[in-house]
Amino acid sequence: MSERYQCPCCGYYTLDSRGGFDVCPVCFWEDAHEVEQFGQPVEDRPRGPNWVQLRDARENYKNFGASEERVKPHVRPPHPDELVAKMKKQTQAEF
Ligand SMILES: [Zn+2]
Repeated sequence: MSERYQCPCCGYYTLDSRGGFDVCPVCFWEDAHEVEQFGQPVEDRPRGPNWVQLRDARENYKNFGASEERVKPHVRPPHPDELVAKMKKQTQAEF
């Protein structure tokens, strides 16, 4: 199992790379900005591949389990092995 990276929106370890335009299957956030980390304060930014700002996407995920209303049909619940990083011990993010 290769190392995976934490989605900056939902916080699950779903990404094969950072900033590589991977789409998180859990919240459908598209990871296009290498600098964004989960738990990090979010700056306003021009509209990228996602239709909402990351801070709004995080709010959306908390509210209805997807980064945007329109992607709700595409998301899935996280797998147990996506809750924590493979390489680290129990450091599950707070929600
Ligand atoms: Zn995600």
